[in-house]
Amino acid sequence: MAGTFIALGTSGWIPSERRETMCFAYARGRRLFLFDCGTGARRLGHPELEPTFASAREVFIFLSHYHLDHTMGVIYLPKLLAGKKVTIAGPGKEACGVSVEDALTRLTTFPLFSHPISGFPMDLTLVDLKVGVNAFKGFELRCVAQEHTAPSLGMRLDDDVAYATDTTCSEQTVDLARGAPLLVHECWLDEEDYRAALAEPDARVLREHSHAAGAADIAKRAEVEMLALAHINPNYREGRIRRMERFARNIFPEAFVIRDFEQIEIK
Ligand SMILES: [Zn+2]
Ligand SMILES: [Zn+2]
Repeated sequence: MAGTFIALGTSGWIPSERRETMCFAYARGRRLFLFDCGTGARRLGHPELEPTFASAREVFIFLSHYHLDHTMGVIYLPKLLAGKKVTIAGPGKEACGVSVEDALTRLTTFPLFSHPISGFPMDLTLVDLKVGVNAFKGFELRCVAQEHTAPSLGMRLDDDVAYATDTTCSEQTVDLARGAPLLVHECWLDEEDYRAALAEPDARVLREHSHAAGAADIAKRAEVEMLALAHINPNYREGRIRRMERFARNIFPEAFVIRDFEQIEIK
């Protein structure tokens, strides 16, 4: 189905002047889907984007995992999505040992915040995602378990978008993304940092995150149409990010480092 994919936050860990932390919107018909809800979620209230979002009858928020660079924006929702019909779906007990309700209750209650998720001013449904196909009314979200410091899920929404972040480069992502118009894949490490990690005896980061060339190789083998590299490392300046992008393009020409506010039409 056709829709517009909009990057609201593309950084990992720390927001910067240019990049908020992970949040992507996908506006399709009367539905608005969000992939992750980091600080980028604040842009739901951006004056130029707000009209696109205001027309949504229903909002679905898919959380890859509960690290704060992917969930910080949940506490902004009482303002940004007040009165809406909202579903928040994240890894459930089976996938990560804690239900979405428990995880978000922790985030929104004393001493971290004072408006428990159960009382958010919206018609709210919380859904535990499982590995495999999660069927919703009118669409499907396929999930795979990923390797990261905390259990995280890779996701694919129908035949529109595949989303793999906070994961190592995985064979499963090739299957998940196969033939998709758009794969959003994390690339925490550029080639320089990746090689440095490989040279260490047991670099932890290699069990937590991906590198740009690995993501490009996944996109190539999955035969996706476009690869958006995201979860950008806040230690990298713009020149280094462009070098990383060129490196990925040598492997998969339709790769690019996605920027905040960038929009992609999905046909
Ligand atoms: Zn992250
Ligand atoms: Zn994480």
